Amino acid sequence: MPQVLTHQQLLETAKEFGTPLYVYHAERITEQYLRLKEAFRETNASFFYACKALTNVNILRHIRQIGCNVDCSSVNEVKLALSAGFEPARILYTSNNIAFSEITEAVGLGVNINIDSLSNLRKFADQYGHSYPVGVRLRPNIMAGGNIKISTGHGKSKFGIPVEDIDKVIDLIREKDLQIRTLHIHTGSEIKDVEVFVKGIEVLFDLAPRFPALKTIDLGGGIKVPYKPGEEGTDVALLGKRVKEEFEGFAEKTGRRLQVWFEPGKFLVSEAGYLIVQTTVLKQSGATCFVGVDSGLNHLIRPMFYGSYHHIENISNNSGALRPYHIVGNICETDSFAEDRMVAEIREGDYLVLYNAGAYGFEMASNYNARFKPAEVLVKDNKAQLIRRRDTLDDLLATQLILKD
Ligand SMILES: *Cc1c(COP(=O)(O)O)cnc(C)c1O
Repeated sequence: MPQVLTHQQLLETAKEFGTPLYVYHAERITEQYLRLKEAFRETNASFFYACKALTNVNILRHIRQIGCNVDCSSVNEVKLALSAGFEPARILYTSNNIAFSEITEAVGLGVNINIDSLSNLRKFADQYGHSYPVGVRLRPNIMAGGNIKISTGHGKSKFGIPVEDIDKVIDLIREKDLQIRTLHIHTGSEIKDVEVFVKGIEVLFDLAPRFPALKTIDLGGGIKVPYKPGEEGTDVALLGKRVKEEFEGFAEKTGRRLQVWFEPGKFLVSEAGYLIVQTTVLKQSGATCFVGVDSGLNHLIRPMFYGSYHHIENISNNSGALRPYHIVGNICETDSFAEDRMVAEIREGDYLVLYNAGAYGFEMASNYNARFKPAEVLVKDNKAQLIRRRDTLDDLLATQLILKD
């Protein structure tokens, strides 16, 4: 059974630290990592936490302590990972559409790099030639993931080098002796169907003979977790089994033993996170009951951005009768967390929890409407500790320069 924080624990934490509050459960992250390790125990596999999901340095340190590596989306994330104590060899930088200067900076820091455009790959080949092994992010033209906004590998996606340009990549190996060690794809988020990953493997295996220095197939992230009650995530045991079969088959056929990398984001931290809010006002409008809360799309944008579902429970009146509510934020935009959602009877002042708030929650938060971002708390060894204090008005002014009258 997965580890969860109980309503009682969440309520006590909310009362101690105030709301809105992000709460993360370290042991739950560990548990997810161990599930992956177990599923891939017979395969040469490594995991790089896609830290854009949640970059608090205490989370990064926990990820490092449990033995997982880290994947970064910007050179600043690389620097956060270094400050969390990761050695450069355990850091991967998979960017998209960045200035070449960020790549030279990453080379200076000595981390693994996946390059996602021909333009940057050419500059890289000119500058580093054979001296710095590199990975290439390809766009395999596969439709995958929960919805179009989080699908990144299809034929109209901005991500990666289109596979149809592969000859131009090969030219660089010939002309500049470029060492391409990794072929990378990341086709989307919330990929439930294991065969989508297998299809990606097959695309890359077909290309492998043309890459003599190839050591690693990097399949990116996108492993799905359940969001709705009763929903199922990706069957990671099946994924492990299928990947093992594919890689063994390839080794038998070609004599080459490649390793596989994954970059899970949501899978590691989504379910470990909770957003706790307090209800401010109830508004009855015809048959609809609006529940206003002390948060909004400035703190958790996923429902408005992607139409995402976050399960919501009333942790201060969970035995109340179930009733339908529109749960909305306090931002001057239409910001709904849920519509016609059955929740135990809600009163003003009640505490609600939004589940699956660990991934792309705080990380996408903003100060819109000059509101403070939530505080963050980490629960580890049954101890709740503040890992980011709430903003103050001084924080809102800190980077502004006041011009003279
Ligand atoms: C966002 C991202 C991931 C993680 O995706 P999840 O759906 O959170 O697992 C992995 N790799 C790359 C390159 C990404 O951009």
